Amino acid sequence: MNENKYCQLREAVDNVVAIDAHCHNLVSKNSSVPFLSSFTLAEGAALADTPFTLPFKRSIRDAAELYKVNASLSAIEKYRNSSTLESYGTKCFDASKLSAIFIDDGFVLDKMLDWKEHLLFVPQVGRILRIEFLALKILNQDLQQSSKQTLEEFTDLFLTQLRSTAKDVVCLKSIVAYLSGLEVNTHVTKKAAEKGLQEELQGGIPLQIIFNKNLIDYIFTLSLGVAKELNLPMQIHTGLGQKLLDLTKANPLLLRGVLEDSRFSENRFVLLHASYPFSREASYLSSVYPQVYLDFGSVDSKLSIHGMKSAIKQLFELGPLNKIMYSSDGFAFPESYYFASKNARDVIYSVLSDACDDGDLTISEAIEAVPAIFRQNALNFYDFSKVIKSG
Ligand SMILES: [Zn+2]
Repeated sequence: MNENKYCQLREAVDNVVAIDAHCHNLVSKNSSVPFLSSFTLAEGAALADTPFTLPFKRSIRDAAELYKVNASLSAIEKYRNSSTLESYGTKCFDASKLSAIFIDDGFVLDKMLDWKEHLLFVPQVGRILRIEFLALKILNQDLQQSSKQTLEEFTDLFLTQLRSTAKDVVCLKSIVAYLSGLEVNTHVTKKAAEKGLQEELQGGIPLQIIFNKNLIDYIFTLSLGVAKELNLPMQIHTGLGQKLLDLTKANPLLLRGVLEDSRFSENRFVLLHASYPFSREASYLSSVYPQVYLDFGSVDSKLSIHGMKSAIKQLFELGPLNKIMYSSDGFAFPESYYFASKNARDVIYSVLSDACDDGDLTISEAIEAVPAIFRQNALNFYDFSKVIKSG
């Protein structure tokens, strides 16, 4: 009965051509990235338990249906092995109904495709610049080649390269949550940052990651200045991630110092991953800070359906519908983008129809929210003149 009452809503979610505003690069077929990563954020030995998770069991059936094979990991792998990336990738991306994807290529994967090569699968591709990736490159290469290894020199190199690269990207992205956490001190002194820089350099090059909180906060604050100058949004990793992340430091409430800093009140911030499990906190921040926006990528593929519904419902508790955006956080394998698109459509349908049942929305308001969440909010928010197009 409900399906009937909401058939137009169902049509809207099924047909909307989405913008995937946060994902990563695909890898070629001979990459060492394990295919099990399509179903989980677990890595290493923890991957052995992935087949016992709800997202795995569900996604195996979804992939099997798409490829018309038996619902088992081995049948899906057999199908993929006998096919080309272009062939099964096209299947996944066509079924995902996307007009554009934005790629954070600072998540380095074995044998990954260049971001521009993704035009093979989607009509428009935008690049996201991960600030800590740029900083690491400068620390490991450019600073080594310069005559002095001082903070002043680092700052010059970083600002010059950030400004020139930023001209061709849709937004910046920070993984400060993975490093020293979201409680960024935007008033970190140059003296403290200099000390941090020298400590990092003494540890030996190449650095795999930046550890010093003062230096990390300094890089974040410098980047906010450039983001403001160029009117570029900053996507911020919040909530769940890989094991390296200390989840207690990924609660978006820790961003208060950044959000209350009047120098950056005109900046625009996107809290990625629905900040799961801090989705209520993210929702609250988006309701009280005009500069805070929400993106629910990763939550729409890596959780049980119940988990997705509950997290996205929490975003809707306070979050303005013009600030909530779809993404997949897909990486490495085309299936990961497809799982997110399929689940997000089902879950947004369910959450919006429940909001109608609760009396929060009329059916026409719910229908209007669909293109907003999957497409229009991103079109309004990001600068599409930076996006490259096929053909
Ligand atoms: Zn990501």
